[in-house]
Amino acid sequence: MSLARILNFVGGECLPPASNRYFEVFDPAVGHPWALAPDSDASDVDAAVDAATRAFPGWSRTTAQERSKLLLAIADRIEADAYRLAMEECIDTGKPLEVARTVDIPRAVANFRFFATAILHTSSELHATDHAALNYTLRRPLGPVACISPWNLPLYLLTWKVAPALAAGNTVVAKPSEVTPMTAFRLAEIARDAGLPPGVLNIVHGLGAKTGPALVSHSGIRAVSFTGGTATGADIARNASPRFKKISLELGGKNPTLVFADADLGRAVRGALRAAFSNQGQICLCGSRILVERPVYAEFLERFATSARTLRVGDPLEPGTEQGAVVSKAHFEKVLGYIDLARREGGSIVAGGGPAGPVNDRCRDGWFVMPTVVIDLPQECRTNREEVFGPFVTVLPFDDEDHAIALANGTEYGLAASLWTENVSRAHRVADRLDAGTVWVNCWMVRDLRVPFGGMKSSGVGREGGEEALRFFTEPKNVCVQVPE
Ligand code: NAD
Repeated sequence: MSLARILNFVGGECLPPASNRYFEVFDPAVGHPWALAPDSDASDVDAAVDAATRAFPGWSRTTAQERSKLLLAIADRIEADAYRLAMEECIDTGKPLEVARTVDIPRAVANFRFFATAILHTSSELHATDHAALNYTLRRPLGPVACISPWNLPLYLLTWKVAPALAAGNTVVAKPSEVTPMTAFRLAEIARDAGLPPGVLNIVHGLGAKTGPALVSHSGIRAVSFTGGTATGADIARNASPRFKKISLELGGKNPTLVFADADLGRAVRGALRAAFSNQGQICLCGSRILVERPVYAEFLERFATSARTLRVGDPLEPGTEQGAVVSKAHFEKVLGYIDLARREGGSIVAGGGPAGPVNDRCRDGWFVMPTVVIDLPQECRTNREEVFGPFVTVLPFDDEDHAIALANGTEYGLAASLWTENVSRAHRVADRLDAGTVWVNCWMVRDLRVPFGGMKSSGVGREGGEEALRFFTEPKNVCVQVPE
């Protein structure tokens, strides 16, 4: 079978990399390559930044109305092409087609629509200095910016950066994950067909360690918006900071799910299960440490482990599949390595505990892991502190509110938390004390594009989401006008 060929998108054209070298992109459900992607190097990055630099003066002077119209046209085209995009995202990632169809693609459409309309409603500040002067603040786009995204929700997370950057009047050089590049390539074609001027959006594919630093350290790039692992974020900060670039880093997590004894236990079990295993546990917001108040610990564990055991691991293309493949062989081995570590640290496995499958003949070489639940591990062990990013959770009991908060805050991360209680005072009190950029009460992963999104501690700096994203992609300029006597 011939492999689909992905190209870079530079100056409005789909182009091969200068070296003409490609690497293989795998379908994790079958364990075989299905596409080739450009192995770009610094010369491809240079060409993309040049194109973005040339396009910037024109694009930054377009009216908000014009930009809005183009971004809405992109959203419409993504929506019109939703089935094909969902299918390609499913093949790239191994996630169930249904998840790509109902989460990833609609959220990518929503990202473009939200920022396309948000820029029509911005306002600027004015400060009257007694009766002597008027200070007003202009917010101007930065110039060419870099948007670097991960593999877990490829089109959704890429568009959450690209849409506000373009809406605010910047030009973009995007670098999608090399593990899942296909839908970014489709986005390039869609942007071109929607009439986005050449050079406004450029997409350079390539390996993280080669293309990434070339882009981050390029002197023409004014800001870097990054989502990915914490170690990569540190590398980006090291490269970007000496050049005084703005950076926004959305990084890893080890998020707690807190279940209090007064919770509606049925809802809490269903909510914790979704938070644990959605997208095979490969969402930065997944609740991978479940903390349960002692009086309901045994009952919660019984119901939760039973539900985890009955999750349907299967071919991502089959309707009814709840758990697809994990994204790559390397990631499959990493997750299995953590299951081994949990055993070595003294944990007891109460669900899953190893590879799943073969789920069917088509997927006999795919990388599937059983949804795994581990108990009997203390908070201090590596299993409970390090991000696994797979279908793997631990469950720990707690004694009271203070103990729950100490456990919840006991990692270097601070991205998100969900808490389950019917006591409204406790909900507010605990939410306030958790180290987390987002706290969900009696729900998980409900998204409102207007709220600031991001992490505390090693989960990152900066915030995405509505106003925060538009602020990140602009810089304020103060104009002071003296008022004559
Ligand atoms: P990753 O850090 O390996 O890669 C992310 C992106 O960075 C890819 O495009 C990669 O090619 C690029 N990259 C790699 N090395 C680079 C470098 N030195 N300089 C510049 N770019 C480089 O992450 P991943 O494995 O693709 O994604 C999983 C991680 O992402 C998890 O840790 C997860 O928690 C995190 N994540 C965070 C959020 C959030 O919003 N906080 C959302 C999704 C995923």
